[in-house]
Amino acid sequence: MSNPKGIMRLELLHSGKANDVYTTSDPRYLEIEASDRVSAGNGEKKSTIAGKGLANSRISSDIFKYLESYGIPTHYAGNGSTPSSMLVKKADMIELEVICRNKALGSFTKRYPCATNYVLSQPLVEYTYKNDNKDFPQYSDPPIDRKTIVALGIASELEVQFMDFITTRVNELMTDYYATRLQVQLVDFKIEFGRIPSSHGNIVICDEVSPDTCRLIDFSTGESFDKDRFRNSMDDPSMGYRTLLKRLTGEVI
Ligand code: 5GP
Repeated sequence: MSNPKGIMRLELLHSGKANDVYTTSDPRYLEIEASDRVSAGNGEKKSTIAGKGLANSRISSDIFKYLESYGIPTHYAGNGSTPSSMLVKKADMIELEVICRNKALGSFTKRYPCATNYVLSQPLVEYTYKNDNKDFPQYSDPPIDRKTIVALGIASELEVQFMDFITTRVNELMTDYYATRLQVQLVDFKIEFGRIPSSHGNIVICDEVSPDTCRLIDFSTGESFDKDRFRNSMDDPSMGYRTLLKRLTGEVI
């Protein structure tokens, strides 16, 4: 199997909660195959949603291209060798989840006494320390402040400033993207960053930017179109993915 650049997909390198990562014939690149697997609560709740992989991969690829067109550095390198995959630049992942919030929902309302859906006076960028190690559940993705990130050597002060700046800009761009192209409001999202070894350790956005990593609310009905449908055991968790894909590409799954 080869992608449009003629790079061959080789071996499975890593099977994550929702995506499978493959090596390729060019050591600078990997392929990410988005699967229909879905999990929540750090893997405690698991299932599959038919068509989710295709929808997420199409949306993620389209957003990466859109962000790149505005000068935001990402790992996206082109289509993969299957309809639900993308070719990406190999990166050394930074062990952080970077979250940006426009409204108070989810874990934020469990930490602070504020009303659900409270509109924050300005977008808020927060960090969590990425830890999926089941032997240390007490450390499951704890919030981490900027000084601790630097003190633990996870990223330098300059890199943290860069991630703050890029995340804030991505929020502006994705808010506009989702509103104008998909008629949904971006409530919050999570992104991850990595360093590209073949490019002097330059930092780029990695992983995915899809309805699995955002909260999206339909402007006309107020319905949730993202993974919260599954997290909160709502009716038909596939509905959001199907609707968003149809709005983006016209495809019906
Ligand atoms: P919260 O901290 O409220 O649970 O999540 C904030 C935002 O980040 C939501 O859009 C959520 O989807 C995303 N997010 C936070 N942690 C994770 C994670 O571990 N996996 C995924 N897929 N999304 C996450």
